[in-house]
Amino acid sequence: MQTSFKPEFLQTADGQRVNEILRNCVHCGFCNATCPTYQLTGNELDGPRGRIYLIKGFFEEKGSSNISMNHLDRCLTCLACETTCPSGVEYGDLIDIGRKHIEVSIKRPVFNKLKRSLIISIFSKPARVATLFSLARLFKPLLPSKLAKKIPAKIPGKSPSRPPSKYSAKNSSSLAKRKMLTIKGCVQSVAAPQINAAASQVLQQSDIQLDEAPTSCCGALAFHLTDLEKAKRTIRSNINNWYGKLSNSHENLVIVSSGCSSFIKQYGTIMQDDNRYTKKAKFISERCKDLSEITTEIKIKTSEPKNKTVALHSPCTLQHGQKIVGSIETKLQEAGYELVEVQNSDICCGSAGAYSLLQTELSTQLLHNKVTNLEAKQPDIIATANIGCLMHLQSGTKTPIKHWIELLTEQ
Ligand code: SF4
Ligand code: SF4
Repeated sequence: MQTSFKPEFLQTADGQRVNEILRNCVHCGFCNATCPTYQLTGNELDGPRGRIYLIKGFFEEKGSSNISMNHLDRCLTCLACETTCPSGVEYGDLIDIGRKHIEVSIKRPVFNKLKRSLIISIFSKPARVATLFSLARLFKPLLPSKLAKKIPAKIPGKSPSRPPSKYSAKNSSSLAKRKMLTIKGCVQSVAAPQINAAASQVLQQSDIQLDEAPTSCCGALAFHLTDLEKAKRTIRSNINNWYGKLSNSHENLVIVSSGCSSFIKQYGTIMQDDNRYTKKAKFISERCKDLSEITTEIKIKTSEPKNKTVALHSPCTLQHGQKIVGSIETKLQEAGYELVEVQNSDICCGSAGAYSLLQTELSTQLLHNKVTNLEAKQPDIIATANIGCLMHLQSGTKTPIKHWIELLTEQ
């Protein structure tokens, strides 16, 4: 793709990156075939190729409008287009840079701006999430059914620092030779604390102690809603919290939610202009592993057949964002589960961070399509690897949904 950017823009890091990405695009449109929003609306501007043109136009100073921003807002950042593109166009980086610059050039409607700020402010703090869920449970009978279904049931809390009592002294954390670090997760620590507990329990069986860092938010929500300054503040604080431990005592930062692991792996890129943090951010990104990347280290207690079928929903942040495919499937089969085939497994479920709150209509259609495909073979359980997908799917099905690591704690 030919570009005609001003020399001043081409001298900036963003300008060079945008130019480099765009030059790989040959306008073939193959990416449209796997784009969930293009599939739903059929509008070229709701597909990756159209969005690439919108971003190119903006940087060539053809201006941008709220209409262009709407098409970019509708992008799930699922990165299915990146997986499909035969020319290796790095759409994820392009839309991140495009959104960053376009956001400051447009005027969002006040209500939209307020909604985005509120989402960041509530969902990046576990205490606020807990208050919101408590209030929502209280008023559940008065809420519209679509919203009521999204409220998670109250779950008694467990934390890695307090493993279940059935674990004997020989499995206790103090005897583990290896240590890994994790985060609580802003929503996960409130809606599903049993996931970290399950990860801790399973890793202890493999002589790995999983410690929770005091921080909970990775910064992804603020970043994806283009509050870059807030995202960077969170990242700096996380680096200050994790760097010492990861340099001295803990092998890796192991993250159980793929949305967070995918984002932490971007710290190095996001902080590349912050001299004080560039090296440390890169170090953290390199040490970050999604839980599904250490499955070969996980010892299975029993591989007796469980006589249960599982439909796996691999989150976009896992299969497209981190290109991790197959490791969870192998582990679940090793543990005695039978996996059922899922059609269109590469298509997003519509959760995508705050997408389900901001683009309700498209998100609901994607949820419906995803649940239909997951339930087609009537599995006993649906498994996934990201808290956002888990809660979103839960609102659309009666089939039990679990994080895959929870299935490894079942005997
Ligand atoms: S598939 Fe790749 S090269 Fe083709 S239009 Fe899409 S981004 Fe461009
Ligand atoms: S990231 Fe997903 S929604 Fe966005 S353009 Fe690519 S395929 Fe479409």
